[in-house]
Amino acid sequence: MSTKVANAAATDYEPVIGLEVHVELKTNSKMFCGCRNEFGAEPNSLVCPICLGFPGTLPVINRKAVEYLCKTGLALGCSIAAHSKFDRKNYFYPDMPKNYQISQYDMPLTTGGSVTLPSGKRVRLNRIHLEEDTGKNVHAGGRMAGAEYTLIDYNRAGVPLMEIVTEPDLSSPDEAEAYLVQLKAVLSALGVSDVKMHEGSLRCDANVSIRPAGSSALGTKAEVKNMNSFRSVVSALEYEIARQKASLAAGERIVQETRNWDEARKLTYSTRSKEQAHDYRYFPDPDLVPLSLEPATLERWRAELPELPLAKRGRFMESYGLSDYDATILSADIPTAVFFEAVVAASGEPKAAANWMLNDVPRALEKHGLTIESTRMKPGQLAELIKLVKSGTISGKAAKEICEAMVADGEDPQAVIAQRGLAQVSDEAAIAKLVDEALAANPDSIASYKAGKTKALEFVVGQVMKASRGKANVEIVRAALIKRLE
Ligand SMILES: [Zn+2]
Repeated sequence: MSTKVANAAATDYEPVIGLEVHVELKTNSKMFCGCRNEFGAEPNSLVCPICLGFPGTLPVINRKAVEYLCKTGLALGCSIAAHSKFDRKNYFYPDMPKNYQISQYDMPLTTGGSVTLPSGKRVRLNRIHLEEDTGKNVHAGGRMAGAEYTLIDYNRAGVPLMEIVTEPDLSSPDEAEAYLVQLKAVLSALGVSDVKMHEGSLRCDANVSIRPAGSSALGTKAEVKNMNSFRSVVSALEYEIARQKASLAAGERIVQETRNWDEARKLTYSTRSKEQAHDYRYFPDPDLVPLSLEPATLERWRAELPELPLAKRGRFMESYGLSDYDATILSADIPTAVFFEAVVAASGEPKAAANWMLNDVPRALEKHGLTIESTRMKPGQLAELIKLVKSGTISGKAAKEICEAMVADGEDPQAVIAQRGLAQVSDEAAIAKLVDEALAANPDSIASYKAGKTKALEFVVGQVMKASRGKANVEIVRAALIKRLE
């Protein structure tokens, strides 16, 4: 073994990760034309001469897309450029009918800013810029299987896209995931995107390198693409870090390149050496005027910003006494947070509302293929269920059954109780009669209890519950038994 190899093997390396996230903006129309911006339509049905790049057509900037990007920038503490411009990024690939993509090169709409993780760490942003999405190539039969031809769907070509680029501040795959979760929560709170990774409205590329632990120099990076879920981002980063460590340990050099993540084989493979910026021959788009933003407009947008997830989490902990963990989950998804707060307002029981919203409700939603937005259950119904448990009208077990029926069919809790005979028996006279019967039938248990075996009491409680077919209020049963035995 050469000295070089031995040294490399002995070195402790740390990963350095930067993420580039592409987010499709939820505008009504495309970035530079009037075509509808919609996912899942018939291929090539949402196109026009402008997004198909016909000669002589002129693009017009989508005002809403600029607003959405600036609101994202304002929420993340970025500097918004008073003046910016659009550039042509030239490349030849069939997914862009114009042979260039309109993007922003040296004057992005925002610079700086950061995303704060729940751990308190601030991940610095380099920039956020606005561009147009490309079309989608579909390799018939699959590229790996040796496709004979490729189909192209241009519905996505020209959809407004914002690219959010971090500084290389992330130091582990888990931290990269935490960043994505937090960014997604902010974008969802702002309402600027669907942020659905499986539909491609949020996509993520990662720049990964490793360096000797404690060093401040950056190693040669690989750009990893084609990750389709937060889970695959973590797996791809773990793989890539291990691959680079193994390369250095074997005395090899890391080359700057683009690598695709292969979800099925769980590995990354080299696709091409990375283009340099000059390969794209960027130049200002002569068909678009430079973009200037009025300070008053920015102030209006700032005033319109909603409460952001971390602020909401803090408020949930403070006002409702929730744990850090519960508050983080309930504040990360806006429809869930809105539903939760409506239940609290109607019931006055924040802890119970949080328990239902974190456990039985999501379980029932999943079982019936619903979401908190598609269920017919109303917050008032869940609030009523909470009150019925508290008053002892129904048992905790019956409440779970009722909750599922409410989630599935939007039924009122009282209706489910009446239909299924789930009301709890709290009538003391009725319970006293059952207690007497159980005592008469179980003299041995009574003797054991009197001899100090307290467990015998639970057996008799069980017998009473059985006789009531589970409907007796178990606390009243236990109290009545103890009273009779003393
Ligand atoms: Zn169009």
